[in-house]
Amino acid sequence: MSPAPELKATLTLPQTAFAMKANLPQNEPLRLARWTELRLYEEMRKAGRGRRVYLLHDGPPYANGPIHLGHALNKGLKDFVVKSKTMAGFDAPYVPGYDCHGLPIEIKVDEKLGHKKLSMPVPEVLEACRAYAQKYVDLQTEQFERIGCFGRWQKPYKTMARDYEAHILEAFYGFLEKGFVYRGLKPVYWCIHDRTALAEAEVEYANHTSPSIYVRYRLTSDPAAIAPALAGRQVSTIIWTTTPWTLPASLAVAFHPDFDYVALQVESGEVYIVAAALAEQVVIACKLGPSKELARFKGAVLDRVTFQHPFLERSILGVLATYVTADTGTGAVHTAPSHGADDFYTGQRYGLDPTSRVDAGGHIHVDPDSWHSAQPPAYDGLTVWKANPVIVAMLEERGALMGGSQLEHSYPHCWRCHHPIIFRATEQWFISLETQVKRTDGSETTFRQLSIEEIDKVVWDPAWGKERITNMIATRPDWCISRQRIWGVPIAVFMCEDCNLPIIDAALNAKIVGLFEREGAEAWHTTPLESLLPADTKCAHCGGKGLRKETDILDVWFDSGVSWLAVCESDPDLSQAYALFQKGKGTECLYLEGGDQHRGWFHSSLLTSVALRGRAPYSHVATAGWTLDEQGRAMSKSLGNGVDPVDIANRMGGEIVRLWVASVDFREDMAASENLMQRCAELYKKLRNTFRFLLGNLHGFDPERDRVAESELLPLDRYMLARTRELAEKILAWYEAFEFHRVYQAVNEFAIVDLSSFYLDVLKDRMYTFAPTSQARRSAQTVLWQITEALVRLVAPILTFTADEIWEYLPAVEGRPISVHLALFPKPEEIYSKDPTEELLKWQQLLLPVRNRVLQKIEALRKEKRVGKSLECNLKWLIPDHRKGVYETYLAALAEAAIVSKAEIVYVPQKDIEDRLLAAQTIDTEKGATQTSLAGVIEEQFVSQTAAPLDVSDVEVSVATSTKCNRCWRYTDDTANYGIWQNVCERCRSALTEMGIASPEANQ
Ligand SMILES: [Zn+2]
Ligand SMILES: [Zn+2]
Ligand SMILES: [Zn+2]
Repeated sequence: MSPAPELKATLTLPQTAFAMKANLPQNEPLRLARWTELRLYEEMRKAGRGRRVYLLHDGPPYANGPIHLGHALNKGLKDFVVKSKTMAGFDAPYVPGYDCHGLPIEIKVDEKLGHKKLSMPVPEVLEACRAYAQKYVDLQTEQFERIGCFGRWQKPYKTMARDYEAHILEAFYGFLEKGFVYRGLKPVYWCIHDRTALAEAEVEYANHTSPSIYVRYRLTSDPAAIAPALAGRQVSTIIWTTTPWTLPASLAVAFHPDFDYVALQVESGEVYIVAAALAEQVVIACKLGPSKELARFKGAVLDRVTFQHPFLERSILGVLATYVTADTGTGAVHTAPSHGADDFYTGQRYGLDPTSRVDAGGHIHVDPDSWHSAQPPAYDGLTVWKANPVIVAMLEERGALMGGSQLEHSYPHCWRCHHPIIFRATEQWFISLETQVKRTDGSETTFRQLSIEEIDKVVWDPAWGKERITNMIATRPDWCISRQRIWGVPIAVFMCEDCNLPIIDAALNAKIVGLFEREGAEAWHTTPLESLLPADTKCAHCGGKGLRKETDILDVWFDSGVSWLAVCESDPDLSQAYALFQKGKGTECLYLEGGDQHRGWFHSSLLTSVALRGRAPYSHVATAGWTLDEQGRAMSKSLGNGVDPVDIANRMGGEIVRLWVASVDFREDMAASENLMQRCAELYKKLRNTFRFLLGNLHGFDPERDRVAESELLPLDRYMLARTRELAEKILAWYEAFEFHRVYQAVNEFAIVDLSSFYLDVLKDRMYTFAPTSQARRSAQTVLWQITEALVRLVAPILTFTADEIWEYLPAVEGRPISVHLALFPKPEEIYSKDPTEELLKWQQLLLPVRNRVLQKIEALRKEKRVGKSLECNLKWLIPDHRKGVYETYLAALAEAAIVSKAEIVYVPQKDIEDRLLAAQTIDTEKGATQTSLAGVIEEQFVSQTAAPLDVSDVEVSVATSTKCNRCWRYTDDTANYGIWQNVCERCRSALTEMGIASPEANQ
């Protein structure tokens, strides 16, 4: 006979309006709008007033495109930090920023403007650059907000803002006035057609035909010093070049220190030194004829020998360099420090002068120190390309040309005018790392050394970052801070036309900073020199009166590198806290960016702050790895393996992007793919369902009215509360250590294993069949409520949208903030007042292992098709007879946890239990189990935390033979009819009575 359908209706099933289906793509934008309406970020600031401040200073992304996954990861992690610090009781303001100046934007704007740019006034071009950057500031802001990142988005900092530009200039003047800045030469790509320096990114390669010539350089130092066999001989080396125009700038010949070189004597008696590996080739190319090897030696012996320049009155130095190759040429490399990067740095090592005698238009000018005849050389005044054949002819005339042909090769060209370009040493602005500075104790050191000492005071996470940045600072050359561009902050300095030195005047500088504050960097281009300079300003070095405005701009790394000054020190929302940080008053300041920033923003920020404030701008630096695909490859358009966070947010939800960010250990390289995002979406569903089940079971629960005191909770409920406290303690520690992936794993495990598969499953009987107001059910509800309250806060930094949604469905409590993001993390002792260890041990070492053995035995019965559900079973717990009274209190909890109908304790002699266990163990061993002793078996069961002798126990499971209650499905001996409802157990009958449901009669 089947139970009356109305009997089922008397069960108290979960009930909640919290939807199963999240519809994140539709619902997240609505929640964002609600947050805007609530002014949630401002409310968080208000709530945080008076608390200790935690500063996460945002590293500005470059505003020239939509966000990609790396940006989403970066901002997601920062949002986890900001939210977790806020909920941990800090005031954690977050002012996002954007890097706006620089070449990539200028190039894009150039492309848009085309040749129009050349006729446009500079301020108009700057305006176009500003508009371009602003477009992406707006786009990225919208996209970062879309994935739930909180911050002062309506007023981010921008390096192109007027006040920020004024601060950049202020910082530069700080360097200038403190004596860090000097002007020096550096080789740059140079287009003689456009008369401008080019950045790496503006160079394109195309085929170009160049003269390929071999040139003799006669040795002027003692040949016997190279090899005794060369004593008294006429010795030369042969260089190979495809840029004859650089020969007037030739200062050295470079040899590889480890290569073998040979001295070949040809029929004329002349001796030529070339690399052994290339000798055969050179003999053919230079038509040297039969030759004899007089000597063989390493290139190292040619260090500091001297040669005669082939046409100038100049001594040429033998130098060593490891970039010399044995693939082409002669192994002897003509070196012009003013026209090549390698040459330049080699020249620096040997103290060679890199002054270029090629002007901006590419005209060569003779070096008067090495040309003594009245008639200038034929190449004087020619452009480099026209000079080539003239110089080749000159070499031939002097017998120095050993061979020549034309060579078509790949050669750098200007991306704009497509003409071939040259390398040219130009004057640049540098910050010297060797500047003398004072430590706080007044002792003297160098800027470089002080920077390294400051690195040591910072916490680097992961720790290898410290060594990395230390090595970079220790070995870096001086910082070249000038660029020959326009989209940036001008090096607003007046230069003496006569001696080319800058005017350094603090009052004048302050005036120009004020001008920038009012009018932005454009003012440097629009304000006439006369209205900025006092009438009779003279050069302090030479007394010259001719002054000009410098036109170079600052390196963009300088711009973002002074954000601590322009933002942390100057923004009213941050300045007080940052002042405390700088004074070392306990306030922390975190920088969190990709690992490449050891070379970039961490680096430039450190240098500017150490120079101007004598300390690092941060106390903590955390770095993230790269986002790669599942095969470990970089994401690229051509591979089609990119994951677009905005697309994921639109299709699956911003929450899924956030879950992915939380799922990875950001310190390593991280895999991302559509597949992994789908997995996060699956997991999200599970988490959401767990929360839905929790909320459903809280229906009808009013915490203020129904809450059960901790001491009166049922044992299983108490255990779950202890477990929740344990989880909360761990999660709070992980948030503090930025171990978000551990939070993610622990929350998943708790939701799926502890809650879904265990507690919530086990509780169904109590939640559905007990009278709603019964103490046992309220005990469970109290704990479910506390778990939900704790969990929703613990996941709020990550599941930003969903936690806030759940918050609205939790039972109302007086004084609760309107959003979870205004709440604090739960305090562990508020979840469970005692140290949870004892409660956890009791369950983890006694009850849960016993439960597992019961479940195994039920499973065996099920396989034999003797039972279906576990409620069709009864269990006997065998306890040694000398331990009477110890375990009775756990019996009901064990029955509930195993979901059996009836449980009883049976006392038997300890020996019997041991024999049973040994027998079972023999069977297990035959099945391949590894336990080999009773001790091992016992240890598995129950390790007493009191170090008392171990107890052994066993369980027996039998098939229930009594009657099944039609309401709760347990098998009991006390079923009876309840009106027309047949076979209702005593517990259900009294629940029905308690619920006020009278026994229904047949005709009702
Ligand atoms: Zn060009
Ligand atoms: Zn001067
Ligand atoms: Zn029942």
